[in-house]
Amino acid sequence: MLSDKALQELLDYESSDPVLSIYLNTDTDITPDAYKLTLRSMLKGIEMPSDEEAALNYIEHEYARQGRSVAIFSCVAKKYFRAYPLSVPVHSRVHIASRPYVRPLANILDAYGAYGVALVDMQGARFFYFHMGELVEEEGVLGDDVRHTKSGGASSSVHGRSSHADAGVSRQSENTAKRNLKDSAESAVTFFEKQKVRRVIISGTDKNVAQFQNNLPKTWQSLVVGTLSLGMTANRQEVLEETIKVGAAAEVKREAGLVRQMVTAAAKGIEGVVGLRDALHATREGRVQTLLVDENFHAPGYRCQSCDHLTPDELDACPFCGGNFTQAPDATEIAVRRVMLSGGIVEILRDNAEMAEIGIGGLLRY
Ligand SMILES: [Zn+2]
Repeated sequence: MLSDKALQELLDYESSDPVLSIYLNTDTDITPDAYKLTLRSMLKGIEMPSDEEAALNYIEHEYARQGRSVAIFSCVAKKYFRAYPLSVPVHSRVHIASRPYVRPLANILDAYGAYGVALVDMQGARFFYFHMGELVEEEGVLGDDVRHTKSGGASSSVHGRSSHADAGVSRQSENTAKRNLKDSAESAVTFFEKQKVRRVIISGTDKNVAQFQNNLPKTWQSLVVGTLSLGMTANRQEVLEETIKVGAAAEVKREAGLVRQMVTAAAKGIEGVVGLRDALHATREGRVQTLLVDENFHAPGYRCQSCDHLTPDELDACPFCGGNFTQAPDATEIAVRRVMLSGGIVEILRDNAEMAEIGIGGLLRY
């Protein structure tokens, strides 16, 4: 899996020789022959023979088909080679630049990063931390035994208890269950905080989910993105698959909200920009807190060699410093890296009609 440290290293890496970045989809329905063929055809005409050889060698001899895709970054001239199997599928593509191409990774982090899941019942809970489509950590807690969980259950008639005694026992069970759910919520917060969870999914019966959620502090309640009704014995794969589904649906909703927020802010002329020109300008000033980019938006740009000013316009000289421009094949990629390096967030939007029209924009820090 791609660790935060590895991601940081990719963001920091720059070479005077070209870096070859490869994303290869190796999802379960694709045969090894098919993805090797895809790789060879993508590498045709690139004319970076040692990097091509390194990548082909890796896929042929080292890649054990972990995960559903793989990201490769190669600059053999500088003895730089990194390969990361990823647990989520990506579109296959290659890219050549002076730095590793990180936009697809921003995309993956955005959709599949930092999920906490709690399976809860009256007695205990299981907690999971999923990151980029992988289970990273799992923990369980078990409270006091809850007897007679079904009111008027089989055991009461077997023991011939009176209905009065039965009510007492079930009230006691109810209290035990409440206490357990409260304890579980506290343990969940400890677990989620430790894992730096950014979104939470709760699974259980409606009643248990509601009680558990009420026991979470307000800040954690606001991070709940969905609920499930999986049983306590659900296996990890089931939990992961359901998590990805709920996450994807919640993501669509959250992103639509961000787009509306950006458009409103830009219309008022404060804390928001839309369109390539204004977005590029804001990234240069380090003002972009959240960069929003449509998945299919790519645009060439011009970069000032002296001051790094980036613009979609072909100008004779930089309006800021009078420097010369070089053409950048994808200005969006530069904007994405700038925002990631300045600690901002990159949102890659899929299937959002409003964003497809806008292409690129951002929410600003000030
Ligand atoms: Zn300049």
